Amino acid sequence: MTAQAAESRDLTVVIGLEVHVQIETDTKIFCGCSTDGAEEPNTRTCPVCLGLPGALPVLNEGAVEAAVKVGKAIDADIPEETTFHRKNYYYPDLPKNFQITQYDAPICQDGALEFSHESDSRTVGIRRAHLEEDPGSIKHVREGTESLEARTCSIDRADYTLVDYNRAGTPLMEIVTRPDFRDPAEVRAFLEKLEEVLEYLGVFDPTRDGSLRIDANLSLVDSDDVDDDGAIDESVLEDANRTEVKNISSHKGAEQALSFEASRQKKLLQSGREVQQETRHFNETHGNTVGMRSKEEEKDYRYFREADLPPLQVSDWKQSIDIPELPDARRDRFGEEYGLSEEAASKLTSTKQVADFYEELAAEYDADLVATWVADNLLGELNYRDMAITDIEGRLDEVATLVGMVADDDITAKNARETVLRGMLDEGDDPETIADREDLGKTSGDAVQSAVEAAIEENPDAVSDFHDGDGGAINFLVGQVMQKTGGSADPGEVNGLLREELEG
Ligand code: ADP
Ligand code: ZN
Ligand code: MG
Repeated sequence: MTAQAAESRDLTVVIGLEVHVQIETDTKIFCGCSTDGAEEPNTRTCPVCLGLPGALPVLNEGAVEAAVKVGKAIDADIPEETTFHRKNYYYPDLPKNFQITQYDAPICQDGALEFSHESDSRTVGIRRAHLEEDPGSIKHVREGTESLEARTCSIDRADYTLVDYNRAGTPLMEIVTRPDFRDPAEVRAFLEKLEEVLEYLGVFDPTRDGSLRIDANLSLVDSDDVDDDGAIDESVLEDANRTEVKNISSHKGAEQALSFEASRQKKLLQSGREVQQETRHFNETHGNTVGMRSKEEEKDYRYFREADLPPLQVSDWKQSIDIPELPDARRDRFGEEYGLSEEAASKLTSTKQVADFYEELAAEYDADLVATWVADNLLGELNYRDMAITDIEGRLDEVATLVGMVADDDITAKNARETVLRGMLDEGDDPETIADREDLGKTSGDAVQSAVEAAIEENPDAVSDFHDGDGGAINFLVGQVMQKTGGSADPGEVNGLLREELEG
């Protein structure tokens, strides 16, 4: 290709993901050790997850149940029989020198996940989703007198390495998509949706450290090879040199790493050079990726059947396991049942906990009022503080109390949000304490009436403007009354009372 031709090459980004998610179970996938993240290293271990001689794995029923749920949620084929394999490699986090995983008969095959991106509905194919065990975790450390945390560093600066096998044997699902993404931003939207679905299924805890890790593959193909409907021939995908960025731990990181890769590869190809097929590492601090090693191939792992685990018949499980209502269905139902806009319904179903909280309140109070409170006020104030509903899990009953105070007209909406809710989040007090302390009980009846009369008496000019048909005058008078009542009157009610006085 001439330099000129290379420079003007029109290229399309192709992305496929391998997403590892930790599956929530009480015990590990092949032994009875607890999966709760103990702080003390190597305290959640036994001969099985330490790979001691003679120890035999026993498959955790809960992990299989969870995998079947995931399969149903992504509309995958669940075969009659599924099998386990050994993937052989040496690394200190892997005490057996092999990982038990699945190979040619994974538990979920050929699924898909729909998500929305920039108000378009997109569907990405899921080639497979299989069960495997998580390795242990590793810390590279420098010598020194500071705390261990402070001495933790990258491998090239380390004096020694510590291994913690508490994580070894935590159940994982590896979810492998088809190379159906065409844009790094799509990946982020997909990951958000995937987490939402997993959370709804009750098989995943997003707040857990390292609960989701992404390997992201990216290549560039000539745009001429892309059909009008976006499809790309298998042989073109095979031939494209791609890189795999390993072990990205956040949605944002995935988008960043892929954007970096897309422009790095574009520069190479448009200057007539080649992309090396390799594994790369994402540096979160710099937002770039660096080459680690040439990409390993399947044959390097010497996959063979795990003889200590018999084939598993999953057809019965498939029949007997039901999955709960998923986010899309719940969003549609919220629209119909509570008369919410699509935007409000989407916000309120974005996590299961938000949706549950909404429904709990909507059973008691006006559905619209509660929608505003949860979707706009609560999520808005939380978002502003970089918090999520999980951060105030134990205080949702206080928020419910506050919404009740608004619904019962004990406090104005403005004071409830701006003083009470913010005070609750910033200072940690409960709503009644704040409302009492700030004297926010809504002024009503006589006090408002006398403020209305006083405002009229003190502002004859505004009154005559009103009678001359000046629409702005009433707003001025409402403002005067609000001032006299310390903001605790209801502006709508004040407006009505003023008109009664002035017109009556
Ligand atoms: P390997 O056998 O090398 O692991 P797979 O076919 O299993 O390759 O695919 C691994 C991941 O790479 C999948 O997520 C898939 O979507 C993705 N992938 C395959 N081809 C491409 C490509 N041309 N560009 C980007 N990603 C790709
Ligand atoms: Zn164990
Ligand atoms: Mg692979």
